[in-house]
Amino acid sequence: MAECLFCKMVSGQIKPDTVYEDDDVLAFKDLNPQAPVHVLVIPKKHVATLNDLGEAETALLGKLSLAATRIARESGIAASGYRTVVNCNADAGQSVFHLHLHLLGGRFMRWPPG
Ligand code: 5GP
Ligand code: ZN
Repeated sequence: MAECLFCKMVSGQIKPDTVYEDDDVLAFKDLNPQAPVHVLVIPKKHVATLNDLGEAETALLGKLSLAATRIARESGIAASGYRTVVNCNADAGQSVFHLHLHLLGGRFMRWPPG
């Protein structure tokens, strides 16, 4: 996916502020943070939206979640609490069409989200 912003981060064409990386997952600070901790956790494989997850990617969300819990621990927000969010398509406000899990924490968050 030559034109995908997050694929360019995976390939190193654009250098994000990386906080975690392994064979399958890359995590970096959000450019426009909505909380003191706001990290995007993405699969290195291009998957456009949650709707596009197939049988071959069943383990992927677990890997994203596990990376998020690790980053939450390392960021000191595991005990105080945090939120993980995957926005899918227009009504949820998805703006980058490479699957990503938002890790948000470090402040109190209301429910339901706006
Ligand atoms: P979405 O709205 O698709 O769920 O989330 C996309 C997120 O990507 C937004 O929170 C936005 O701030 C973030 N973002 C957009 N462009 C960049 C970028 O170039 N670098 C980083 N680090 N984050 C970005
Ligand atoms: Zn991509």
